[in-house]
Amino acid sequence: MRIGVLGAGQLGRMLALAGYPLAKTFVFYDMSGSPSAGLGEVIIDRDGQYLDDFLSRVDRVTYEFEHLPVEVAEKIATCKPVHPCPRALQVCQNREAEKTLFGQLGIPTPEWQIADSAESLREAAEALGCPVVAKSNTEGYDGKGQAVLRTPEDAEAAWNSIGHPRLIVEKFVDFHREVSIIAVRGEDGALAFYPMAENTHHEGILRYSIAPAPKLEMHVQEDAERYIKALLNELNYVGVLTLELFETADGLVANEMAPRVHNSGHWTIEGAMTSQFENHIRAVSGHPLGNVAPRGFSCMINIIGEHGDVERMLELPYAHVHLYNKGERPGRKLGHVNILADSYDELVWRVKNCAQFLPGSPEFKSSLTPRG
Ligand code: AMP
Repeated sequence: MRIGVLGAGQLGRMLALAGYPLAKTFVFYDMSGSPSAGLGEVIIDRDGQYLDDFLSRVDRVTYEFEHLPVEVAEKIATCKPVHPCPRALQVCQNREAEKTLFGQLGIPTPEWQIADSAESLREAAEALGCPVVAKSNTEGYDGKGQAVLRTPEDAEAAWNSIGHPRLIVEKFVDFHREVSIIAVRGEDGALAFYPMAENTHHEGILRYSIAPAPKLEMHVQEDAERYIKALLNELNYVGVLTLELFETADGLVANEMAPRVHNSGHWTIEGAMTSQFENHIRAVSGHPLGNVAPRGFSCMINIIGEHGDVERMLELPYAHVHLYNKGERPGRKLGHVNILADSYDELVWRVKNCAQFLPGSPEFKSSLTPRG
């Protein structure tokens, strides 16, 4: 089976790496002009001239990024099976649509309002009560196109700094930590849920994911599974879906979803019986889903901006280094290291030991480390 992937970055690369043992072949469709998958066939098509050529070479289509015009996904869906469905893309590209769907499905969200001018941003901040987070309704990712308003008087500056005609304004959530759940739904509607991950960000970029999330009460995992199941079934979704959440004193609050494999699931490559990438390929190809049980305690460390001392990391017997074959640039995701351990204590020690070879990495902070 030939799988067509829209997008050609590291997520596509890891999908292919997981798909080759199942005898899949891959054709990547790149609209950015700078593909980095480095595997399979790559069609670079900045002007949308070669879509038919791409489609003629594949049996099924999936994607590895969600900022793709919905019309393109819809057009493809008329001639080839596309998983997940274009509606999932549409929802993820529009925070208002996403939060509305969450609300309809009983998934808690921060209180929110829409603002379409500096004045209405100010009114929303007053109505919701500061602090609030204003986000561009479309085209935002990794904290870009966002501003925190400490008082309603910040509205003018925030509006100008974001520079977008429509914003979603959310009450600032007082969370203990950020977590995510990754689930997969097969063509037959079968479901599997990975254990949740605890995620630490720095400068808007994910740095560490620990899974299973430490000190997570069972009912919290169950709540997250209920929420993501509602989304998967509502969207008649096939493939891997990610839901990012805040854990608060009053339970989980949903932030956003990603209709694809996710950085907070990279730990599954060695840390779970079946990786998120393999399970996505299985689902998209119509195969049974694989076992999602963890193999121990995992932490994924992102390699951001500079590679650090890769040779020293390769010497560590418990570290699995994954490099994306990309050039160094501030803030760029270049690879990740998966650390496996038999206990959380051992995991903390191993993560700190590995992180010393990544000089650009922020200090390892998590619910496992004492707060400074
Ligand atoms: P997003 O692009 O929506 O994922 O937001 C990026 C980051 O901003 C999140 O990972 C959080 O750390 C923070 N953030 C977003 N929304 C809120 C909110 N309503 N309350 C508190 N922090 C938030």
